[in-house]
Amino acid sequence: MSNQNSIITELLQFFPDRRLQMYFKSSLTALSHAMEDQVLAGNEEALIIASFQKEKFYRQEAHRYLRIGKKSRHVYVLAAPETEFKHNSDVYEKIAFAPDDSLAMEWHLIVISPNYANCLICREKPYSNSENSSESLMMMDNSRRFEGIWTYDRDISVKAAELLLYRIAEYRPELQAKIQDAIASYCADFCALEETNNIINPDPFVQRLVTYLQAGQYKLIKANRFLSAKEKKERLLNSVTGAIRRSLDPEEILQVAVDKLGEGFGVCRCLIYRCQENDLNAHINHEFLNENINSVKGQVWPLRNNPLFQEILSLRESISIDDVTIDPRIQKDPTILSKLIKSCCIVSWLIVPILYQGKLLGMMELHHCDSNPITWKPEDIALVDAIATQVGVALIQAESYAHLEDLNEQLEALDRTRSNLVAITGHELRTPLSTIQVCLESLANEPDMSEELRQVMLTTALHDAERMRKLVQDFLTLSQLESGRVEWNPEPLSLEECIELSLCQIRSRKDKNSLPKIRINLSQTLPLVQADGEWLVEVLSKLLDNACKFTNGNGEIVINVEEKNNNILKVTISDNGRGIEPDRLDKVFDRFYQEEGALRRSAGGTGLGLAICRQIVHNWGGKIWAESQGKNQGSEFHFTIPVFNNDSISSSKNN
Ligand code: ADP
Repeated sequence: MSNQNSIITELLQFFPDRRLQMYFKSSLTALSHAMEDQVLAGNEEALIIASFQKEKFYRQEAHRYLRIGKKSRHVYVLAAPETEFKHNSDVYEKIAFAPDDSLAMEWHLIVISPNYANCLICREKPYSNSENSSESLMMMDNSRRFEGIWTYDRDISVKAAELLLYRIAEYRPELQAKIQDAIASYCADFCALEETNNIINPDPFVQRLVTYLQAGQYKLIKANRFLSAKEKKERLLNSVTGAIRRSLDPEEILQVAVDKLGEGFGVCRCLIYRCQENDLNAHINHEFLNENINSVKGQVWPLRNNPLFQEILSLRESISIDDVTIDPRIQKDPTILSKLIKSCCIVSWLIVPILYQGKLLGMMELHHCDSNPITWKPEDIALVDAIATQVGVALIQAESYAHLEDLNEQLEALDRTRSNLVAITGHELRTPLSTIQVCLESLANEPDMSEELRQVMLTTALHDAERMRKLVQDFLTLSQLESGRVEWNPEPLSLEECIELSLCQIRSRKDKNSLPKIRINLSQTLPLVQADGEWLVEVLSKLLDNACKFTNGNGEIVINVEEKNNNILKVTISDNGRGIEPDRLDKVFDRFYQEEGALRRSAGGTGLGLAICRQIVHNWGGKIWAESQGKNQGSEFHFTIPVFNNDSISSSKNN
């Protein structure tokens, strides 16, 4: 039975000169309350018609209408029913209009007494789309807007009352007689009442109105304070997030976060430290301090037996302590916690874990050190939690970036190796291959070649084939060592025997007359060493081979072995040959390093020998290094090797 005609539109047809005015909901509430209070405070009966858009708005005022209903026979309350609002004639008349009636968009309150008439007739103004932002929605209830008329004009009030009473009659025809009586008593004869019109004192009404407006204003200020506090916190979160995301350096991220958090919360001390679940201790490296607060930076704090840390680990959430003096956890553990609290002067304590996908990365702590404890509000804890989450993400990002950089460096090194390999293959393989090819072609195509020349050709081809074999062999050996695919068989060995073996190899490969003099300086009481014999001989051979290669026939090579301590021997192979520039002493161990560069080699070799030695020595836990005073000053190559003992057997077996 809904009626689509708007009361306000109908009313304007009778008073075409009236202009609608805009009202916010808060003003309408204040006006309505002031009008209702005027009825409650007065002594005469009045006609009161109140129309609520929804039952829930009526419910907020129901207690007032109970009192108003007792003051007058003609009280009519309309609302769109939601749960229990129905037509009813109990203390006053209730009219439940259809939810799609135009009344559902309007707000009316009409009071007509013999002495005054007052009406509020409004309809809701819908929001435009552009205003429908989250902010306007948040503020919506108080800033809902209406347009309409609020007036003391009796003509308008009476007409509005009539229009509403007719609408009531449509819904509740059984009230026809009562409605006629209301019209006769309060509307029909209004001319006769005109003389008494406006005789009441408006002051109390204005007083009440101001009180209600003040109350509305107070609510707005409260809402505004709440919003600005929320905005301040959002700004803090954004500024921390923005600042830490700008860096990929974990240390910088933590320092920026601790500073922003400390400043934002205005706490006495703020700490961030890295830690993992099983850590025994944490190093306090990042700190924000307010004036006159003692620093704890650089301290090491216990974690394993710290009950608060353990509680955070099991709960995976923050702990807030408003007052440490009455917290049962602290009283239960008088040692560690009390010591920390005393040395840091903590009164109120907030500890928040930095987690990433459940993994603990560190902790954030806020300390309040004044004598009066503070209460950590849930929204503050939630904000620190949110910042901790952001710090966790930033740390993981920074670490991933660092890994990526490592990976990049490894890739670049690999690329350099590949280029070196191409260069060395170009020279080392192509040159001997061409020589071999020329020699073999000549041997095949020139049957008349002298026996002597034939011999030279064959020797040259064989020599170059050997060079190629060596390069391929070294390359395979190094790849095998670097990839960890070598099976090690450590055993007790006599160093002297290994040296002899490698010298035999050298002597068999080189022309005895061109070899420098080789002197061995060994004590008779040397202990056995623990190593894989094959690889130990490989190291000795390569070092001796180099010493021979870079020292001319008149020079001298000395092999010396020294006992560093009970567990380690130091082997030194020194020569008085070509020497090495001091800034190249580390470089010589790089793969493919050759002083003249791969393409200008004079002494032969592959540039892989020392890289192979380093891999082997590192495997038995030793060190290898070179010393030289510079060019033509000779060189010394040293390496260390473990002495054999029963423990080393068992540990190598375990390996
Ligand atoms: P190569 O097969 O070229 O000898 P290595 O890895 O054994 O490769 O040695 C790398 C480089 O270190 C050599 O090319 C040489 O420049 C330098 N070097 C090695 N041993 C000596 C030494 N005893 N005296 C001078 N230079 C040396």
